[in-house]
Amino acid sequence: MAGGNQPTTAVAGRASRPFAGLRVGIVSIQGAVEPHAAAIERAGARWKPVRHVRDLEDLDALILPGGESTTISKGLEREGLYEAIEAFAASGRPILGTCAGAILMARDVEGFPVRSLGLIDVTAVRNAYGTQVDSFATVAQGELEGLRAIFIRAPRLKRPGPDVEVLARVDGWPVFVRQGNALATTFHPELTSDGRVHAALLELARKCER
Ligand code: GLN
Repeated sequence: MAGGNQPTTAVAGRASRPFAGLRVGIVSIQGAVEPHAAAIERAGARWKPVRHVRDLEDLDALILPGGESTTISKGLEREGLYEAIEAFAASGRPILGTCAGAILMARDVEGFPVRSLGLIDVTAVRNAYGTQVDSFATVAQGELEGLRAIFIRAPRLKRPGPDVEVLARVDGWPVFVRQGNALATTFHPELTSDGRVHAALLELARKCER
């Protein structure tokens, strides 16, 4: 029997699916693409892989996933994506970088230097947790109460500049930062069911919807 007064997804409409219609690109050179795709779908938005400059057309937001930043960097270089992503950011559309993606978003990189986009005024120190505690889970402190953070060979973010907002910390270190429309986490928000980091990206995308 059809449930009389239950609203269907269709009639519940935009109010309950605020991110419907947004298209998010996920840089798909190497790394954790699928869990980000699943998180975007759970949030009610659409996604597509980005491998070439032309894939950036018609996107409302972009994700640089975790993985190996040296490998991802080589792909960005080969495809001319550094310049294209810089132009994407300059157009005001939001970008989220997670772990290796956060390294690529930084102003500069220490440890094992890699070319970065310089979208967030912070220094990323690669593999800063060493080999003994190279992966761990904890709860971050900040506005997003109870935010569970999974770290996998994570970088540490140092010396955030005056325009950088620190949204969450672990042991005093910034783990979730924002500068304008650029967001970065040193942990993996796509590996938990907490959708608040992806929602922050989509919220920025909604505000600059053309
Ligand atoms: N250690 C990797 C790097 O330096 C990042 C790890 C990750 O993205 N999980 O690129």
